[in-house]
Amino acid sequence: MHDKTLAELSAGLAAGEFSSVELTRHFLGRIERFDGQLNSFITVTAEPALAQALAADERRRRGEAGPLTGIPLAQKDIFCTDGVRTSCASKMLDNFIAPYDATVVAQCNAAGMVMLGKTNMDEFAMGSSNETSYFGPVKNPWDTVAVPGGSSGGSAAAVAARLTPAATGTDTGGSIRQPAALCGISGIKPTYGRVSRYGMIAFASSLDQAGPMARTAEDCALLLGAIAGFDPRDSTSVEREVPDYRAALGNDLKGLKIGLPKEYFGAGLDPAVAQAVEAAINEYRKLGAEVVEISLPNTGLAVPTYYVVAPAECSSNLSRMDGVRFGYRCDNPKDLEDLYKRSRGEGFGPEVKRRIMIGTYALSAGYYDAYYLKAQQMRQLISDDFRRAFETVDVIMGPTSPTVAFNAGEKTDDPVAMYLADVYTIAANLAGLPGMSIPAGFVGNRPVGLQLIGNYFDEARLLNVAHQYQLTTDWHQRAPQGFE
Ligand code: GLN
Repeated sequence: MHDKTLAELSAGLAAGEFSSVELTRHFLGRIERFDGQLNSFITVTAEPALAQALAADERRRRGEAGPLTGIPLAQKDIFCTDGVRTSCASKMLDNFIAPYDATVVAQCNAAGMVMLGKTNMDEFAMGSSNETSYFGPVKNPWDTVAVPGGSSGGSAAAVAARLTPAATGTDTGGSIRQPAALCGISGIKPTYGRVSRYGMIAFASSLDQAGPMARTAEDCALLLGAIAGFDPRDSTSVEREVPDYRAALGNDLKGLKIGLPKEYFGAGLDPAVAQAVEAAINEYRKLGAEVVEISLPNTGLAVPTYYVVAPAECSSNLSRMDGVRFGYRCDNPKDLEDLYKRSRGEGFGPEVKRRIMIGTYALSAGYYDAYYLKAQQMRQLISDDFRRAFETVDVIMGPTSPTVAFNAGEKTDDPVAMYLADVYTIAANLAGLPGMSIPAGFVGNRPVGLQLIGNYFDEARLLNVAHQYQLTTDWHQRAPQGFE
């Protein structure tokens, strides 16, 4: 059962080949058997999952099942889940039981999906390797000495190892696409505002966006359909109809215009990754697409801009974690100041502290204009590059990540080297554009991801473009050895 896609599981449930309870038990069994090797889950919610599965089976008997009713999934531990620990992989929220569901979680529940548990991640979603988690690093199922990527590394590893058919992720600078690439699965970061951020613990509010992670583009289409939509509780959520993403998967690619930004194929890109990406582009040519070179001249500004904007916003968002209202509180504080200092000093890990310090500095009086304002201006230039590009092309393609998965420990002492893992993904967040990563080959035993960037609210096209490739290739069907 674990080798089936969401679409196949949906059909199997509808045909009565198995029940949701059977399916849920199967995946819980796999988590129990394999997750000791991967550490992809922080919390497994076996009992509530079985209760949800039972309810899903009853709903089906009543004839009220939707396409996702009874299908298990895992939620990244950044989404608030009513009554279930929501830790954001931090000591700060180690024992935080959320009092409500995030909208994404509520929508999955409303669709009748079954939550298997909460997945591991980088602490407060800050990282590209899942090594900053308070609950320990996640391993890449393709090669357990390698990182799974981050920050949604637990979700990516769990999907790749078939411990869950799908998972949610969030992407502030690449955290859906980069781990999807490094674990050989598919993932889409929607347009900013497409999916509600309500109940999703904020990292950088103007960049954060949630999205689905699954093995195929079709599965991402199914899950995105369930979680997208307007939410009056998120003021940045956009009131716009949600298309039937799955119904849009049947279009051929004749005449599709693909732009390859020359800046995405320069120095820093591993030649073996470049080769796999070029082979994928050739496949698109065979499918009838027209490929042209384009330029996104401000690409080099993306990482420096991001590392002003994201820390600035996180320093503000994380100020609510003060030891007073919820989360970690130090023992025996002497006075209020000591309470703040030690609760935050003991509760946050080193990467989170680094970001808070950079952000606080950038926002301080006298520096605001020099850093934050400047970064916002650079952000506009980056958006303008894309706007011009989309006047002539339909989709932009390139590598998701400059390298395949690196080894654990390899970049932990060099934050800048770690930050460069997102050099191709960050610009889409700064511009608010949708981006996707799909499996496109291997270097040795480690997967390569192809990135697709689309115009605003063009998710349906991106998913179809990814799906057409998956109809003629089988990279997305490969399973890591030992997890088949
Ligand atoms: N790796 C990037 C960072 O560390 C992006 C993280 C994310 O998208 N949440 O900030």
